[in-house]
Amino acid sequence: MTTHPRDTDARPERLEVLLIEDSPDDARQVEGHLALTSNPRFSLTVCPNLADGLGALERRDFDVALVDLSLPDSGSDPLDSFRQVHRMRADLPVVVLTGMDDDEVARRAVQAGAMDFLFKDEVQPSLLGRSLQYAVERMRSERRLRESEERYALAVEGAHDGIWDWDLDRNRIYLSPRWKAIVGHDDDEIDDRPEEWFERVHPADLARLESEIRAHAEGGSSHFEIEHRIRHKDGGYRWVLSRGVAVRDRHERTYRMAGSLTDVTRRKAAEEQLLHDALHDALTGLPNRALLLDRLGITLAQAHRAAQSGSPVSFCLLFLDLDRFKNINDSLGHAEGDQLLLAMAHRLTALVRPGDTVARLGGDEFTILMPCHDPSIAEAVAGRTLAALEVPFDVNGRDVYVTGSIGIAIGPGEYHTPEEILRDADTAMYRAKTEGRARYVIFDREMHHDVLTMLQLETDLRRAVDRRELHLHYQPIISLRTGRLCGFEALLRWNHAERGPVYPAEIIPLAEESDLIGRISEWAIRESCNQLAEWREEHPDLDLTMSINLSNKQFQQPGVVEMVASSIEASGIQPNHLRLELTESAIMDSAGSARLRLQRLRDLGVGLDIDDFGTGYSSLSYLHRLPIDTLKIDRSFVSGIDRNGRESRQIVSLIVDLARHLGLSVAAEGLETSEQLETIRELDCEFGQGFFLARPMDKHAAAELLRIDRVW
Ligand code: C2E
Ligand code: CA
Ligand code: CA
Repeated sequence: MTTHPRDTDARPERLEVLLIEDSPDDARQVEGHLALTSNPRFSLTVCPNLADGLGALERRDFDVALVDLSLPDSGSDPLDSFRQVHRMRADLPVVVLTGMDDDEVARRAVQAGAMDFLFKDEVQPSLLGRSLQYAVERMRSERRLRESEERYALAVEGAHDGIWDWDLDRNRIYLSPRWKAIVGHDDDEIDDRPEEWFERVHPADLARLESEIRAHAEGGSSHFEIEHRIRHKDGGYRWVLSRGVAVRDRHERTYRMAGSLTDVTRRKAAEEQLLHDALHDALTGLPNRALLLDRLGITLAQAHRAAQSGSPVSFCLLFLDLDRFKNINDSLGHAEGDQLLLAMAHRLTALVRPGDTVARLGGDEFTILMPCHDPSIAEAVAGRTLAALEVPFDVNGRDVYVTGSIGIAIGPGEYHTPEEILRDADTAMYRAKTEGRARYVIFDREMHHDVLTMLQLETDLRRAVDRRELHLHYQPIISLRTGRLCGFEALLRWNHAERGPVYPAEIIPLAEESDLIGRISEWAIRESCNQLAEWREEHPDLDLTMSINLSNKQFQQPGVVEMVASSIEASGIQPNHLRLELTESAIMDSAGSARLRLQRLRDLGVGLDIDDFGTGYSSLSYLHRLPIDTLKIDRSFVSGIDRNGRESRQIVSLIVDLARHLGLSVAAEGLETSEQLETIRELDCEFGQGFFLARPMDKHAAAELLRIDRVW
């Protein structure tokens, strides 16, 4: 861009003036006038005829020319000399001088391109200076305008974007070559009717485009901008961004609109990829939870609508969770686990019809959503799914077997949100797990009720723990040889404000599912140790013990040994006054670490009893090597003595023999009748416990019992 020197320079501009004038007097007069002007300064070159003038123009640059129209060497037309100068240097501003008082010539000169005309008689210093200066300025601004127009033309031609310019009055539209190229056409293949644009717009986008344009034309917005699809010559659609502004007249009427067209197909594709990624699982490419919920929502709405119009369209959601997948992952490695999940995805997809949705919710959880007019259809698919899992998976050449548990929810029913359906399918799946895995369960309302009750109970239990509403009952353990009380088993109790007494069979699983088990067991152990310390102090002669149950989970909790040790120490009892009751499975489950933990408890000096003995699968050889003291015969054998006398009696007798052989004590629990007691005594079982001897009782009753010191 040509910047005007005066814009940036404080010094006056210097303009080079070529004067072509044959009259020396006139030339001198001009020279005199110009000398009087100081801003801008003029430096004058005088040529006395046209030939000289043209020669000077050829040799050097001038800012402006002052040409006499009556030169001796010009043609007969007074404008001739101007024309020759102008032809030679079209970009040089020319002011014509004429001696004739002839408006007509002056007018023609200006029409032909002269910047100004001056009558010699009227020329004054200020007028001359201004005229020359004005001629220069005008030429400059014309040049700038021309340049910018050219630049615009170049821009239109070279632009990545297509340009359009719509004359609304004539209803004609200019579409640039690039605009046409975006839709795959050559310049001459598309004319200037606006339909050339609108008829190519995707039918689904047309109304939106038209209303945007209308709104803008009516003055509702500063510009319009809309993405739409447009048909390409190849028959496919491209995504484009159309932008435009309205040009309005003095009455705010839009008479013209212009703008651009940008091909955004690639960006759209990238966006679609992102969208795809956001809605699909990266490993398997299956829909993820977000997309499943979306589809479930749509399915649900459709099903409700269909139900209103009487047609029984319904659907089902199968929720599949692989059994013990964590073990597989841990033992095979994560890459192999991923392989298995991928193969799983293929198998599930192969099981269903194209319109059904198989999704992966993450981890080893998959769902299948499909139409279903009858629960038997859902059951059939669940059955097929379980069957498909029976074929081993080939993971790196190795056969891997997995089973899965499936929960089924059937809609629409009373469902309002997709989340509810997913939740219920999950609940049913969970039920399938607890019922033994590798099976399916259809959700019913009762399950939901159970879950809610569980949740409520869990909340209540948490509060009960906080408020110390749990307490212990104590059931006497009798020495069958002496008939004397030798200890108690501590049993957990909870008096629920609304539900009444809650028993450990409910409390313990609940506590284990939440994080409450640690707090509860610590409290129970401390409480019973303290209680024992109190009773031992009151009755030093009785040599009482306290038995406490430890669930499998409790036994596996890190720090359990330390916790037992600190409870003993805090209460002041001797370690061997405390007996821990463990189940066979707790001891056998994870043999290595369990054994170490047992040994550490034994090293503390506490007694270790195996509870419910005979119901588990103890390896006798293993039992032999464990640091235990007592086998506590399970209640079922004791109560069996009445019903199927011989058999149960034989089992009890076997256990007693076994214990003797292993050098262990034997206790019988659940003694309910005198007959049972007699039998057990005959078999020479050392300890007895049961309702027939004494029921579990609170600490006051137990203290009372200690005071009377009765013999059984
Ligand atoms: P368990 O260790 O076998 O405890 C004996 C259970 O049998 C107690 O039930 C007791 O009330 C009941 N019982 C005692 N004598 C008889 C009888 O003659 N006939 C019958 N039918 N039952 C009798 P409870 O208190 O409901 O406890 C059930 C189970 O809960 C216990 O079985 C024990 O495994 C567990 N448990 C109890 N308290 C705790 C605790 O503080 N911590 C842990 N981890 N488990 C506990
Ligand atoms: Ca017990
Ligand atoms: Ca027991």
